[in-house]
Amino acid sequence: MVAYGSAMASVLVVEDDANVRTALIRELSVRSHVVRSVGTAMDALREVTQAPPDVVVLDLGLPDLDGAEVLKMLRGISDVPVIIATARDDEPEIVRLLNAGADDYLIKPFSIEHLSARLAAVLRRSVRSGPTAELSVGGLHIDLDRREAMLDGEPLELTRREFDLLAYLAARPGRVVARRELLAEVWRQAYGDDQTIDVHLSWLRRKLGETAAAPRYLHTVRGVGVRLAEPDPRP
Ligand code: CA
Repeated sequence: MVAYGSAMASVLVVEDDANVRTALIRELSVRSHVVRSVGTAMDALREVTQAPPDVVVLDLGLPDLDGAEVLKMLRGISDVPVIIATARDDEPEIVRLLNAGADDYLIKPFSIEHLSARLAAVLRRSVRSGPTAELSVGGLHIDLDRREAMLDGEPLELTRREFDLLAYLAARPGRVVARRELLAEVWRQAYGDDQTIDVHLSWLRRKLGETAAAPRYLHTVRGVGVRLAEPDPRP
């Protein structure tokens, strides 16, 4: 439910402090957002699965799970924009969370105007990053309509599945995509064999002219998934 122009959205507030939660619900509702709230990480994960919101505001200090853990699990199941709210003004930690897939952050205590502005920005970005016809990461160019991929100006001969896998990863450059997400989104399977993904990745690697040991675009993150990123310039 993303309204263009105005930033009305369905917002999931994940916050265990009842006072903060009540205030957020009231203020966001006044601004025409549809707000749901939960107080634990487990409830948040269930909500996101069952009724995906447009955006999640995630308190890092939850009673059941560490914020970084929650974010990782969220990213395993969803692309929903996440704004983290933290009482800790801890830059390395915030950078780590942004790299782990958070879209933005707020340091507590924050004003509702500040939160509104962040919400609007994140929603604008997620609308814009919707289906686009072309993707570029480094020397890699992908035309989604024509289902063609080029590397450094040379066409790549890809199977259908290889193309889908490459396009899915290239649409999320720099982000570690979990195997479970690839299975669900590329293979359209709720569960399956990791080997299926590994085999396709190795074929794709070969066509991109790289290996797992010397990756350029495709980086395996052990135990988590895979990340497609612009390569460092060749030495
Ligand atoms: Ca808290």
